[in-house]
Amino acid sequence: MALLPILSFPDARLRTIAKPVEKVTDEIRQLAADMLETMYEAPGIGLAATQVDRHIQLIVMDLSEEKDQPMVFINPKITPLTEETQPYEEGCLSVPQIYDKVNRTSRVKIEAINLNDEAFEIEADGLLAVCIQHEMDHLNGKLFVDYLSPLKRQRAREKVEKVVRQREKVAVKR
Ligand SMILES: [Zn+2]
Repeated sequence: MALLPILSFPDARLRTIAKPVEKVTDEIRQLAADMLETMYEAPGIGLAATQVDRHIQLIVMDLSEEKDQPMVFINPKITPLTEETQPYEEGCLSVPQIYDKVNRTSRVKIEAINLNDEAFEIEADGLLAVCIQHEMDHLNGKLFVDYLSPLKRQRAREKVEKVVRQREKVAVKR
């Protein structure tokens, strides 16, 4: 197991479009395990491979209170099940310390593959629906700040750069 460095906004690598996973190998299973460890450590509730500079369609998530229900989505597809949208205050491990409301479809169908290479399908609403749409955006090179006004996005960029500089200083001292 290993902690992976997380790319932060406005890193251009976050704009890469992820390719489908051709086969679920041990290497993919290891990457998913490392991504889960990185996500728990951060701490966060979801992480897309794009954020750790691996450009394949792989998402990990854990929305449980106890952090004991890891979910892995490989080659996910989502289909809206309603035209209704819900606003939700989102954050992102690649945009640290920035939170803002984004409107997303409130109910979606998720089709994906698991780590045993088996296809599965679930209907999602609430936080799971929000989170899967947020993570799917990462696989398409999109960030939640793209939905905000240019002014808010600029402020987010400045704040994130400051946070990253501070983290680097702390890392050097260690
Ligand atoms: Zn994110």
